[in-house]
Amino acid sequence: MAKIVHRPEINFLRKFYIKEVILGLFVTLKHVIRNLFFPEKLPTVFYPEEKKEIPLATRGRHRLMKREDGTPRCTACMLCATNCPAFCIHIKAAEVDDPYKEKYPEKFDIDLLRCVFCGLCVEACPLDAIRMDMPLITFAEYKREDFVLTKEILLDHDNEDYPHAKGYNPPKPLEITHGIHHFEFLKKIKNSTKQI
Ligand code: SF4
Ligand code: SF4
Repeated sequence: MAKIVHRPEINFLRKFYIKEVILGLFVTLKHVIRNLFFPEKLPTVFYPEEKKEIPLATRGRHRLMKREDGTPRCTACMLCATNCPAFCIHIKAAEVDDPYKEKYPEKFDIDLLRCVFCGLCVEACPLDAIRMDMPLITFAEYKREDFVLTKEILLDHDNEDYPHAKGYNPPKPLEITHGIHHFEFLKKIKNSTKQI
């Protein structure tokens, strides 16, 4: 059986929404008084004079991690560039004499104007050589070419900078970044083969 819902009677005052208008004005007045006399309670931030703390997981500007001797951990494997959906990473690989390192990036550019800050380059890197943990999220330049991060800019930091991000990006064992891990592993296999 259908339930009959009775519509309430609308009186003369309600037809003109006088009560609702007064209530709305009261809310506006309440906000005006609060904003004038208690600015510290404002839910807004006086940017750029005031800056909010950035959450740990925020993806900021990229940086290239360094080995102890200051050279980039990156071995120019191209995995980050291949996985980048915006095609904004440009790497030029070069040979290196060190037997522990296969290659190094002679050139490593990231075009910030194309980057969508997806973090896929960080995920793809097998050496933890690229991170996006710098608390830099606002970029302003006058020329398009100034938005290109060169290798020198990406390496211009200390590995120990941004300790707040350690929990987010745990450091990888150093030997892996030097290729010694694989070298020792191969030596072990060789020795075990000899014993057989
Ligand atoms: S954050 Fe995403 S778009 Fe930007 S360089 Fe890395 S993979 Fe490319
Ligand atoms: S940053 Fe990592 S993924 Fe990109 S080229 Fe270097 S080693 Fe490979």
